[in-house]
Amino acid sequence: MESQKPSDTAEIVDVLVIGAGPSGAVVTHTAAAAGLSVICLEQGDWVNPSDFPANFPEWELLIQHNWAHDPNVRGLPSDYPVDVEDSDMWPVMFNGVGGSSIYYGAEWPRLLPSDFRVKTLDGVADDWPISYNDLKPYHDEVDEFIGVAGVGGDTAYPEGLDYPLPPHPMGKAGIKAAQAANKLGWHWWPGTNAIASQKYKTLEQCGRWGVCEWGCPQGAKASFDLMYMPQALKAGAQVRGSARSSPKVADWPPARSTSPATAMLCSSPRVRWCCAPTALAPRDSYCFPQAISTPMAWPTHRASSAATSCCTPTARHWATTTKTWKAGAAPLVS
Ligand SMILES: Cc1cc2nc3c(=O)[nH]c(=O)nc-3n(C[C@H](O)[C@H](O)[C@H](O)COP(=O)(O)OP(=O)(O)OC[C@H]3O[C@@H](n4cnc5c(N)ncnc54)[C@H](O)[C@@H]3O)c2cc1C
Ligand code: SF4
Repeated sequence: MESQKPSDTAEIVDVLVIGAGPSGAVVTHTAAAAGLSVICLEQGDWVNPSDFPANFPEWELLIQHNWAHDPNVRGLPSDYPVDVEDSDMWPVMFNGVGGSSIYYGAEWPRLLPSDFRVKTLDGVADDWPISYNDLKPYHDEVDEFIGVAGVGGDTAYPEGLDYPLPPHPMGKAGIKAAQAANKLGWHWWPGTNAIASQKYKTLEQCGRWGVCEWGCPQGAKASFDLMYMPQALKAGAQVRGSARSSPKVADWPPARSTSPATAMLCSSPRVRWCCAPTALAPRDSYCFPQAISTPMAWPTHRASSAATSCCTPTARHWATTTKTWKAGAAPLVS
């Protein structure tokens, strides 16, 4: 996809989405389907599945270089260096249409009702201001949209939880673990995956290559370049690859934000609503939430001076990386 020069973007849009990961893809599609005009800017580009490393015999070498999980190792124009000097964790992420869902394992566990009440139940952290039941309809909607595979009726959840696709078969290790849990009298349930166990919409049936975390060559994994973004385009949204947004685009005084976890007001007169990823959040502000579609990573993090969240860089890294942007990186759009 061709990148846009700043002068090309002098149009007025209802919604500007920065970042085409799962969060951005769901927002882009939802807004476009509601009839709003939407542009999504993505610093990386569309990925061609035939380029995925597992297509090549030397794939184990490729995943240590251009296809590494760590952007500091990859160092591609779509990446930016992440400062890990004071961090015990290294980032794992992908920058491109689909975001880190290009790499994700598509494990699809849903938060338990008790996860929302850890302060009350366990005396740790905080209770959430919303409950499992508040989120359930949205979880269900996303599960249906992307074709989650699993076994309904898990007794750890309130009644009514089911999945659109049948589960994947259990492997030897899973059966062993289940037998052990049975012996101990522990509750267990087959895992849920955002991987098609049979053909679903445009997704192929999983061929069990087992290389999901470096891009699915079969097109069976619901990465968000395959699900949500194509439908967003059909609904009229524009997705612009190789378009890195500058902080100016998403200049949000925190006081003007509607809440830590919803779209922020953008100061640009050309944009009515702006949704942006963690990296653009002002220092010590709340990070943009992970998509509701990735419950494993749902709770928002407060960016701290040294913390690195699971897969997304913190505001601190933004401050560092803007200074060290390499020549040849994706063009800034402001
Ligand atoms: C190896 C791996 C395995 C994982 N396994 C699982 C799993 O099994 N289950 C699970 O639930 N989760 C898993 N995750 C986590 C999951 O992929 C992330 O939680 C999810 O992708 C986050 O979505 P997001 O849209 O919030 O952010 P991201 O996916 O990080 O997307 C953000 C996008 O914004 C773009 N962007 C950032 N800054 C700018 C800018 N200035 N201008 C333009 N674009 C910008 C980035 O290029 C990126 O494409 C895994 C992640 C990895 C890396
Ligand atoms: S076909 Fe299935 S197992 Fe193989 S990479 Fe794709 S999602 Fe993973």
